[in-house]
Amino acid sequence: MSLMSIDSVFKLLLYPKEAYRSFSDTQFIVDALQDIEFICKTKGIFERNHYHIGDKFFDYVTFLGCSPAFKTEPDQTGALDFLHIEMSESTEKANFHYNSLGVQARCFQCKSKLNNVLDKVMADKADLKKTQFSCAKCEVNSDILNINWRNTACFVNQFIAIHQVFPHEAIPNESLLLLLQDVTNTPWHYSYADLILT
Ligand SMILES: [Zn+2]
Repeated sequence: MSLMSIDSVFKLLLYPKEAYRSFSDTQFIVDALQDIEFICKTKGIFERNHYHIGDKFFDYVTFLGCSPAFKTEPDQTGALDFLHIEMSESTEKANFHYNSLGVQARCFQCKSKLNNVLDKVMADKADLKKTQFSCAKCEVNSDILNINWRNTACFVNQFIAIHQVFPHEAIPNESLLLLLQDVTNTPWHYSYADLILT
């Protein structure tokens, strides 16, 4: 699979930590993100649920290492392969988003590395809510929500995606996560993903 295809664009995902939390109307979140100019106020939406970054975007996301060249406009109308923000709609069923460069998972009890988790996810994909991942060290079972995915995967009904961010290339600042928490009354977390299990 080509990493340049639309389906495998790397994204930094922000999402409510609370299990299966979602919002049927997300305009209040978009409004709050426009107020701080994380999302552009003036250019508006360019495609359903996709927004240009605002003037203060880089106050809320820190890019690590040497500064990469950012493309903040599409090369052609309709292209989505540039740095921008997507506010997803809520889905009835939670989806497993993961990082094709590698998924890491830790036991919630003893923090040991769990092996072959992605194989188990693939095998159980029809009903991941029931899946149990057993720890070889402490023998405690984790479920898909209490595993620590080390920012490499998440199982969520809704998310905000920052497109064109490679894994660990950038991190959301605490102020952004706290703003989302204030607006939605629930804490937020983040992950890097380019694929969705279907
Ligand atoms: Zn364990």
